[in-house]
Amino acid sequence: MDFLQPTSWADALAVKADQPDAVPLAGGTDLMVELNFDARRPATILDLTRIDELDEWTISDGVVRLGAGVSYSRVIRELGAMLPGLAMAARTVGSPQIRNRGTVGGNLGTASPAGDAHPPLLAAGAVIEAASVTGTRLIDAEHFYTGPKRNALQPGELVAAVRIPLPTGPEQFSKIGTRNAMVIAVAAFSLALRPGQREVRTGIGSAAPTPRRAAQAERFLAAALADAGLWESRGDLPGAVLAEFGSLVAAAADPIDDVRGSAAYRRHALAVLARRTLAWSWRDYQDGQAAANGA
Ligand SMILES: Cc1cc2nc3c(=O)[nH]c(=O)nc-3n(C[C@H](O)[C@H](O)[C@H](O)COP(=O)(O)OP(=O)(O)OC[C@H]3O[C@@H](n4cnc5c(N)ncnc54)[C@H](O)[C@@H]3O)c2cc1C
Repeated sequence: MDFLQPTSWADALAVKADQPDAVPLAGGTDLMVELNFDARRPATILDLTRIDELDEWTISDGVVRLGAGVSYSRVIRELGAMLPGLAMAARTVGSPQIRNRGTVGGNLGTASPAGDAHPPLLAAGAVIEAASVTGTRLIDAEHFYTGPKRNALQPGELVAAVRIPLPTGPEQFSKIGTRNAMVIAVAAFSLALRPGQREVRTGIGSAAPTPRRAAQAERFLAAALADAGLWESRGDLPGAVLAEFGSLVAAAADPIDDVRGSAAYRRHALAVLARRTLAWSWRDYQDGQAAANGA
């Protein structure tokens, strides 16, 4: 097995162009497990950890550009206040050791339906930068996941970064598993409210072949908030709106029965997660109003 360690992004892309089967290595928290279990035996591993650009994040025009090699620990520490949805998800990933090594780029590379970064990226409207020697392609998160553990990257491409719009309203993430830590999600859900645009965005994890949005639930909630003037009044949410939102999120899922949970349990859990995250987000929105009023 060849182990290549380029120190520049241009060299890494040149290797990937020359050897499309070369397997990139970031934190190794997915890849090393596969190698250790002999599930994969690539001829070439392309170590990306010496490429400084991948470890950087920047902000411009209301968008965070998160390098593919930024770890979960750094997302929590450095971007926790700016990207609350992604940071909440990052706090639930593995253990401190996994969060120190594991990256959002690696989560996208694996593209597991259960990956915790995906629901908040979908809810935030993130865009993935897929780079190759011929240039950079921008792929909306909702078009990035193409099947279980499959993504839209072409053979010569690597994830360079993820562009994540800064939130303009509350964001939440919640996940349920068979225990409280070091756990693969049985179901996960992310919600982003965008009061300025009167928009609602969602991300479902671990309850369909790919991470996905709950489009009908988004439309229902945005319309219900608008029709009742709740975006302006910040009044209490009717229970019927919470219940219907939960039902529509559950209906958007397409879960399977597996060792971690039944499809029926996943649907039920998603409805609960959707109602809870909406209640928490709405309380945050109401608290924002109280602060703005000096109350
Ligand atoms: C004990 C344990 C607990 C875990 N808990 C969780 C959890 O709670 N939630 C969760 O979501 N995940 C969890 N994981 C899985 C893993 O930590 C995450 O998926 C993590 O984000 C992978 O990132 P990495 O940098 O380690 O990726 P790597 O293992 O280095 O790579 C993962 C995949 O992405 C590809 N890749 C890496 N970088 C790029 C790039 N720039 N462009 C294209 N492809 C790339 C690799 O070739 C590989 O196929 C856990 C893993 C372990 C071992």
